[in-house]
Amino acid sequence: MRLSERSKAIKPAVTLALAAKAQTMRAEGIDLVNFTAGEPDFDTPQRIKDAAVQALKRGMTKYTDVRGIIPLRQAIAEKYKREYGFDYHRDQVLVSCGGKHALYNLLQALLNPGDEVVIPSPYWVSYSDMTLLAGGVPRIVPTKEEDGFRLTPEQLATALTPKTRIFILNSPSNPTGAGYHREELEALSRVLEKHDCLIISDDIYEKIVYDNFHFYSIAALNPKLRERTLITNSASKTYAMTGWRIGYALGPQEIIAAAGNIQSQSTSNPTSIAQAGALEAIQGPQDEVEVMVREFQKRRDLIVERLSRIPGFRCFNPQGAFYVFPNVRSLLGRTGKGKKLGSAADVVEYFLAEARVLVVPGEDFGSSENIRFSYATSLEEIEKGCGRIEAAVKKLD
Ligand SMILES: *Cc1c(COP(=O)(O)O)cnc(C)c1O
Repeated sequence: MRLSERSKAIKPAVTLALAAKAQTMRAEGIDLVNFTAGEPDFDTPQRIKDAAVQALKRGMTKYTDVRGIIPLRQAIAEKYKREYGFDYHRDQVLVSCGGKHALYNLLQALLNPGDEVVIPSPYWVSYSDMTLLAGGVPRIVPTKEEDGFRLTPEQLATALTPKTRIFILNSPSNPTGAGYHREELEALSRVLEKHDCLIISDDIYEKIVYDNFHFYSIAALNPKLRERTLITNSASKTYAMTGWRIGYALGPQEIIAAAGNIQSQSTSNPTSIAQAGALEAIQGPQDEVEVMVREFQKRRDLIVERLSRIPGFRCFNPQGAFYVFPNVRSLLGRTGKGKKLGSAADVVEYFLAEARVLVVPGEDFGSSENIRFSYATSLEEIEKGCGRIEAAVKKLD
């Protein structure tokens, strides 16, 4: 079959493929501990569901404005005014079918062939493939665990070239959970000031932070970057609304309009009643978010403590999100079930076969020495899974 070069340049999102695998195994009755979920395990808060049900009953079943309903765009603009002091007009807001779609539209609207996108690694799986789909060139810059998986100003300065069109910042990060502190963002912003590139700040985990970590927006810290910064965010992670598919972008009007045109010729508006739910999510009381974050923090504390005890694991303590990304380099070269573990992917395969525990190999996030655990699962499952991994590691030759 003759397929487009574009489609051949990319791979399917590995996390979604693994989640499907986990489902199949469970359906077969296998007692699997699944640490692959890239989504909160909590249910969407009732008030949000009610708002969508009401909208449905009211007959909100027609096309909406391609960019999203005005009250939602207004509520998003107001959130950013309230929380960061930004003055976005509602026409500087584009509501899309998830944060992923918001990012996709932006990259499609901004990149020309050969334009470079600087992506600190480990990175969220879709940044590089979406860049390729838009004809751009991903320029991956590995961060160091000693630096807390945070890009240093020196690394950024070296990575930025006249070809750089976009720098993508994701704090707290998927997969490492690393969050940038104020001074670190200020230092990066001083480097960015001198370069004529755009910044995409993927702020999807802004609310999921621990130990009093304070989330800062780079554009709020440095007004000189405001006109060049695009923010993407989503209802998915903050409000446990992954299936609803509502995310959004904010930024300079011209860019938002261009991204909106791409949306108008592809998906049109995001689902009408999901927008009604998202409006309630953003406008209503935020108590449930705090409850979820407190629960996530307990789980992070437990999983970091449990994994750190396993010989061969080195586990960075994340500032946010709901992932840990331990380094398993010391396990490489050892033998399990008659097979030498040569990569993180082999380690994942071994844990699945020996321990019935599923995690995501680091390769797809740009690291061959790490594996990703999502702790969007219960404390009991975390205990059980870590116990099984500990036993499986003991069996390695
Ligand atoms: C989950 C995730 C997204 C996209 O989520 P949507 O469900 O599409 O809103 C974007 N960026 C990162 C880093 C994520 O982890």
